[in-house]
Amino acid sequence: MPSPTHESPWRTEEVRAFRNTVRDFIQRELVPQQARWRAQHHPDLDAFAKAGALGLLTPDVSTELGGGGGTFAHEAVVLEELARAGVHFGASVQNIVARYVVTYGSDEQKRNFLPRLGRGELVGAIAMTEPGAGSDLQGIKTTARREGDHYVVDGSKTFITNGWHAGLVCLAVKTDPKAAGPRGISLLLVETSRSLPGYRVGNPLEKVGRHGHDTCELFFEGVRVPAANLLGPAEGKGLFQMMEQLTYERLSVAVAAVATTEEAVAVTIQYAKDRTVSGKPLMELQNTRMVLARCKTEAMIGRHFLDGCIERFLKGQLDPVTAAMAKYWLTERECSIIDDCVQLHGGYGYMNEYPIARMWADSRVERIYAGTNEVMKEMIAWSL
Ligand SMILES: Cc1cc2nc3c(=O)[nH]c(=O)nc-3n(C[C@H](O)[C@H](O)[C@H](O)COP(=O)(O)OP(=O)(O)OC[C@H]3O[C@@H](n4cnc5c(N)ncnc54)[C@H](O)[C@@H]3O)c2cc1C
Repeated sequence: MPSPTHESPWRTEEVRAFRNTVRDFIQRELVPQQARWRAQHHPDLDAFAKAGALGLLTPDVSTELGGGGGTFAHEAVVLEELARAGVHFGASVQNIVARYVVTYGSDEQKRNFLPRLGRGELVGAIAMTEPGAGSDLQGIKTTARREGDHYVVDGSKTFITNGWHAGLVCLAVKTDPKAAGPRGISLLLVETSRSLPGYRVGNPLEKVGRHGHDTCELFFEGVRVPAANLLGPAEGKGLFQMMEQLTYERLSVAVAAVATTEEAVAVTIQYAKDRTVSGKPLMELQNTRMVLARCKTEAMIGRHFLDGCIERFLKGQLDPVTAAMAKYWLTERECSIIDDCVQLHGGYGYMNEYPIARMWADSRVERIYAGTNEVMKEMIAWSL
């Protein structure tokens, strides 16, 4: 009896051809570097330029703005292939920064930043979280004080993905510390470099997983940013912009979660067929068969839910609450299924040289970032 397969409706012939390019690039250029990236705690900077040359960094930005001219289906392919290969590389954050510029940027900001993001000449980062404000973004303390035709930025951010190489930081700041609620928050596009006066990047933080991906603290002390780099036509729009764009980010997390889950199940089925226990294949034990049957079924349910979300997004119809459901439920399933898969690997499941061990450590953060799953459930509950 063949195992059921499912072809997602959004994977058109053209998208499948794009997948071949992406997979080939990841296997050829990124996979061989992973041990070194893990040791140095960040990707190589030139990986961005190489990915950019193939149109993998901003695949759903129009070609006039330096992107790949595709849709979210192309971005989903990049996310899936990176997840399957276990490569944690900042392409997703890069594209999210580009989306902020596409959606809210002035013509000049678009012309200035998007082609460079697309080519990987600038590495993008989103800096919202602070030591004292994560889920509660209204509590941020970083300020941007207007002085003539500049803002002067003071404060710090933590847990910033792509922080080590970041050349364009989409920075959440308080432009009006006295304003009540969300209205005091704005987003600034800060073009950074190690020589920018007052700007400092901390060493990549020591994480539980994703060791090859840089997550850093960023410090701002009197950093001068041109006032023209305010994102959006006026101050006070930042929190609304973030809330709008988080739907895209949460869908992206859900895409990676399902791809990782599918890979974990496939790897474990193979392991269970190859591994002998008490003289017979691990796969012949009833517990193994029951666990894997459940994991495979749940992965398939997740795939169908995700495909529905992608289809709705492509039609411009994905609402924030459904995106929150996808992010919450698919990452919970991912972690639970991978944990079962680790158990079926026995002691080898705890060894970093086995992909399942790295998937276990690498996936845990998906329940925390892009809005914790508790915050997702709050959002869902508010809609009831
Ligand atoms: C590897 C990694 C990469 C990251 N990348 C980025 C990045 O690129 N940019 C960026 O800005 N941030 C990034 N983050 C930060 C991430 O988004 C935050 O960690 C997350 O939003 C949670 O904030 P916090 O850590 O301050 O936890 P807290 O907000 O302090 O939460 C603590 C606990 O309280 C719960 N909680 C909070 N509010 C509620 C509520 N209303 N109802 C119920 N429970 C609640 C949370 O669910 C959690 O369990 C990253 C984090 C990690 C670990």
